[in-house]
Amino acid sequence: MIEQLLQKAVQVGRPFIEKGAVATYIPELGNADKNKLGICVHTLDGGRFACGDVHDRFSIQSISKVITLAAALELCGFDTVFENVGMEPSGDAFNSLIKLEISGSHPYNPMINSGAIAVASYTQPRISFSNMLALTQQLCHDKGVVLDEKVYHSEMENVARNRAIAYLLESKGVIKGNVEEALDFYVRMCSLSVTAEGLANLGLLLANDGVDPNGGGRLLESDTVRVVKTIMLTCGMYDGSGEFAVRVGLPTKSGVGGGLLSLADGQMGIGIYGPALDIKGNSIAGEQMLRFLSSQLHLHMFDSSRFAVDPKTML
Ligand code: GLN
Repeated sequence: MIEQLLQKAVQVGRPFIEKGAVATYIPELGNADKNKLGICVHTLDGGRFACGDVHDRFSIQSISKVITLAAALELCGFDTVFENVGMEPSGDAFNSLIKLEISGSHPYNPMINSGAIAVASYTQPRISFSNMLALTQQLCHDKGVVLDEKVYHSEMENVARNRAIAYLLESKGVIKGNVEEALDFYVRMCSLSVTAEGLANLGLLLANDGVDPNGGGRLLESDTVRVVKTIMLTCGMYDGSGEFAVRVGLPTKSGVGGGLLSLADGQMGIGIYGPALDIKGNSIAGEQMLRFLSSQLHLHMFDSSRFAVDPKTML
């Protein structure tokens, strides 16, 4: 049964925690308990499975890039979003600005900081932060999503690098509006607090082509969801995206708060919390759990026996 499989996944992931570390460059994130670990799986046929710390609230961080990109696509349209932001994996750290300066003037993709700050600058004039919070609550099917003020202030007090990126983007004509407002919007979105369960709900919504699995109708356009999932697959794990796609084969987005948003298209949403990170800023135990789950359930999107395994009855 899948409950046993999730217990096994936690057992497989846990030993990796000691090799990782919680993020400290945003000091408030350094207070997280690195031993926390949880995984939640919601299937399209109504299955709800969980093991570990799936109700703990933690900082969404870069997983918010998925939500802001979805909102931007719906509010501004594809051509505007991608006029000055690319669709290529960068191969660099999430907070790098090196390629912005040496190879062209556009951020490589919307899942790294430079691209996400640019996308925030397109989104921010068109929707209030409180409506973005409400949208996040709706997409995660979780009224408990809130702005974590401590995380927000902690990041704003240590925002020099992202501010440098934002002004570099302005100098290159990528950000045309108010830089400080775009930056503030970006940091607020990163400071939302979510649970692994809420991320599983969001994953399931994306796996279901943007239609609310809880009967609330279409929440995101099909075109939006297709673009978002593709960018998650190619760029969602920063400079670890290529290897992760080969080994796991699931559209996934990480955040330095320790969350992983993942999905098996047409099958399930997966949410993970594990704040010990690898060198690239991805949940170290979380990656191993996804690797295990993907191989056990044949979830890799190019696995020829995909859909052949019923997660509820396996084992
Ligand atoms: N708020 C973080 C930052 O901008 C998000 C980074 C992340 O989760 N990788 O640095």
